[in-house]
Amino acid sequence: MKKSFIFYPSKNPKFILNKVINKNKNFLEAFILKTKDPYRVAKKFFKIKVYTGRQVHKDTIKIVNKKNKKFLHKIKADAFITSTPEIAIGVRLADCVGSVIVDTKKKIIAVVHSGWRGIAKKIILKTIDKMKKMGSSVEDIIVSMSPAIGKCCYEIGKDVYNKLKKDKIFSNIFIMKNKKIFMDLHKANYTLLLKAKIKKKNIYINDLCTYCNKKLFFSFRREGGKTGRMIYFAVIRKEEKNAE
Ligand SMILES: [Zn+2]
Repeated sequence: MKKSFIFYPSKNPKFILNKVINKNKNFLEAFILKTKDPYRVAKKFFKIKVYTGRQVHKDTIKIVNKKNKKFLHKIKADAFITSTPEIAIGVRLADCVGSVIVDTKKKIIAVVHSGWRGIAKKIILKTIDKMKKMGSSVEDIIVSMSPAIGKCCYEIGKDVYNKLKKDKIFSNIFIMKNKKIFMDLHKANYTLLLKAKIKKKNIYINDLCTYCNKKLFFSFRREGGKTGRMIYFAVIRKEEKNAE
């Protein structure tokens, strides 16, 4: 695991923080670990309500504002962007990669849910394109990727492999082991981020495997589909008013 991530509270951790993003007082991000009600954890520790959508493994990206946030749970989308402070947007996860994208200058944030389908549709690249249209410059963007099912455990079928390998950009994301094919979801997203011209030093990957670490994470694959969800969320914090 990259050193930029810390468990907190450290004794019985409920979430992981990316130190680099949280060091910037304008932003908060947290990955809520395996727990019955991740929304409650967010409320308890961060005093914030997290909004998530209806994830369908496609490439719809929704801009969230004060008006539509209440309906987010009905909206079919796998990425969300906001430039409104105090609206916490999140993605629900159990093996897929959650990414928090932060434009530190323009103060725009995004969250992205991507498994192999989202990767095939290059949703993370499209989200960055959309942020650029909103005024973001790639050099100001920091990306943090959540724990996900690792290349140690994420075996894929020939069908998925054949679909993805058609695109040259994905030539480096497969591992062949004992006649089986494994896929590296983090590396796939990383490759797409480089394609989007995000600086290498601004990409943080927490590569703990959700399948291997039963204590900390839910895993869709390990539990055979019947499992809970973790949440990775981000929020732009309101500027602190100067005392007058
Ligand atoms: Zn693993």
